[in-house]
Amino acid sequence: MNKEMLGLGSNRSIIRELFEFSKQRKLEIGADNVYDFSLGNPSVKPNPKLNEALIKIIEAGDDTYSHGYTSAPGDNNTRENIAKDLNNRFKTNYSLNNIYMTCGAAASLCITLRAITESINDEILALAPYFTEYKVFVEGAGATFKVVKPNMETFGINFDDLKNVINKNTKAIIVNSPNNPSGVVYTEADLNKLADFLRQKEKEYNHAIYIICDEPYREIVYGNAKVAHIPNLYDNTVVCYSYSKSLSLPGERIGYILVPDKAYDSKNLYLACLGAGRAYGYVCAPSLMQHAIELCADLTSDMNEYQKNRDLIYNGLTKIGYECVKPEGAFYLFMKALESDAYKFMEKAKEFNIIIVPSDNFGVTGYVRLAYCVSTKTIENSLPAFQKLFDSYKK
Ligand code: PLP
Repeated sequence: MNKEMLGLGSNRSIIRELFEFSKQRKLEIGADNVYDFSLGNPSVKPNPKLNEALIKIIEAGDDTYSHGYTSAPGDNNTRENIAKDLNNRFKTNYSLNNIYMTCGAAASLCITLRAITESINDEILALAPYFTEYKVFVEGAGATFKVVKPNMETFGINFDDLKNVINKNTKAIIVNSPNNPSGVVYTEADLNKLADFLRQKEKEYNHAIYIICDEPYREIVYGNAKVAHIPNLYDNTVVCYSYSKSLSLPGERIGYILVPDKAYDSKNLYLACLGAGRAYGYVCAPSLMQHAIELCADLTSDMNEYQKNRDLIYNGLTKIGYECVKPEGAFYLFMKALESDAYKFMEKAKEFNIIIVPSDNFGVTGYVRLAYCVSTKTIENSLPAFQKLFDSYKK
């Protein structure tokens, strides 16, 4: 038995554990009385055109087309339409040959990491706070996971610590903006600063350092915040994208890897992604979903609902007196715990039937994450419980 895998399989993630707790609690006291902010499952319905596309594909009656294997990198028309959509939005010049269809962002990341690393000596950096599974993905690829400490003032990039952590073994840095768990969107100025810094380090170490841009929340953004297209700022970028959140279909497992021509050794990098896809047994992303994306490449779900939830929860909690990072994107809110141990705070919140995730899992101490991709009613009903939780710390 592989002990590492046994360990991963046996220890459920805290998020899954909280989700199970919440399910049980809902059975005991009724679903309306539990305020579950644990899981990033989109609450907004998929775009109706997506369901129409699926029905149209199935009703056309060509089962080999709808349910059969596509070519390994994905259906040509799907990849072409994705490339066209990206070109329209970001003034780029991509073609189908830059796109590799995958089973969502998790698969995109695992494949990319496997493609660019060779041994435990290769290091991949993540910027805290970071999506918990990065560590699993990097170590699963056989490489070493390194964390850049958080910038506790802005939750943007901590350049001072990045300078400490980066070294000649650094192969790539994962950038996730809009960010899970903080909701922060990295500014273009910060990303340009990162690009300049990495170019300087590439020269110093005499090898490429890739940015792996993990952006399943690219379209969920509020107010004046802008999500930069990182390949336009830094050549050696690979984009790992997923439709899980933008089209509200996380269970359907569909996304892609974008390897721009400008990226160092791009042809071989693309081939290495194909190879990693084979090695992991990920060849051929779900074909029905690929064809639906072919018809819906430029669509999203209705993101206004998240904006409404964001305003409601941020205003409600700060009014009570909680210290929160104002989310500019994604559907997560990062809130300061009312005691230094976020686990204890999580346990206390459970007494008020509030389910929140301690930040230690994301590489930060003293905070909790709230996934506000829930019904607006849940947020409204939860605020008196948050008030009681707050008051309990005054006693
Ligand atoms: N990256 C981030 C930052 C995420 O939040 C998630 C899922 O929540 C993923 C990757 C995985 O996405 P997918 O469901 O498309 O595999």
